[in-house]
Amino acid sequence: MTGLSDPFNRPINYLRISVTDRCNLRCIYCLPAQGIDLLPHGEILTYEEIATIARLAAELGINKLRLTGGEPLVRAGLPRLIAMLAEIDAIDDISLTTNGVLLEEYAAELKRAGLKRVNVSLDTLDRDKFQRITRHDRLAAVLRGIEAAKACGLDPVKINMVVMRGMNDDEIPDFARLTVSQGWHVRFIELMPFAVAELVRRDCGGGEVDTPGFMPAADIKQHLSSLGRLEACLPPGGNGPARYYRFPGASGTIGFITPVSEHFCFSCNRLRLTAEGKLRPCLLSDRETDLRQPLRSGASCQELKQVITRAIRSKPQKHRLRRGKVAAKRLMSQVGG
Ligand code: SAM
Repeated sequence: MTGLSDPFNRPINYLRISVTDRCNLRCIYCLPAQGIDLLPHGEILTYEEIATIARLAAELGINKLRLTGGEPLVRAGLPRLIAMLAEIDAIDDISLTTNGVLLEEYAAELKRAGLKRVNVSLDTLDRDKFQRITRHDRLAAVLRGIEAAKACGLDPVKINMVVMRGMNDDEIPDFARLTVSQGWHVRFIELMPFAVAELVRRDCGGGEVDTPGFMPAADIKQHLSSLGRLEACLPPGGNGPARYYRFPGASGTIGFITPVSEHFCFSCNRLRLTAEGKLRPCLLSDRETDLRQPLRSGASCQELKQVITRAIRSKPQKHRLRRGKVAAKRLMSQVGG
């Protein structure tokens, strides 16, 4: 690794790649019910273009990739992309973030292609509530997807639950118990204010905090206090922003991701690539650098690497949520989380 770092001396070694802006769910905090204007296919990076960017990024110091979306599994042939990425020498970790709806169908093929592990977004274990949150009746498919991923050796499978006050906070203990009974690795994620927050306000009944439905990790922990003593533990694979705990004897873990109540920008090692080829150095800032135009107009590898380096140099020191600055140009589904 060559030691890519940003102006605040944070090492940058992690590229999150959104492969599509399309999604097969419409989560209330992420997408409007009617969907959004989608990118024309010609504007979306081809797999060859993505692989080229990943290779150049790897030559600069990136060694960890995550594929996301939209929903990455709705893009045809994703295992082919994973196989291409797995051939890049310096890349030693390829993971996927998915809603799990199509995971049962693809898990084994993804594993064979070189995928190491998977994060499944699941906010409720209740069928009706799943339908209210995602606007689709697909809970059973997601649960089968989780089992399929485990069965074919994608390890660890982490379950990401976005906690919304008044919507699914009553299920925090149920998810936590699954870390003991099923060995699940559950991560409770604070809801971040994005442009669709309006919809959450309507669906969740709001609250006093500036983000409707928001519940800080401190309150999430309180929901766990009656279940037993949590002991701090190491992350179950990967080394992200979550703080991990487990109940004594549990094979699964509980993680807390606190972008709002306790930001972790000082340790951010990420760069994001949108489906249409914009480099985004901070999830929560609208700052972007276009890579597709130079890529398609024949820029040399050296020039493309300079664009990547320039994007990293523009990485903000931290997000400005507390000052009311919310990323407004894109929805989460257009960045990838
Ligand atoms: N479709 C895939 C999935 O569902 O995992 C990948 C894309 S989705 C945008 C990535 C993650 O972002 C999901 O875990 C989702 O719950 C999370 N997410 C979306 N909007 C969010 C918000 N406002 N606050 C916190 N997490 C959010």
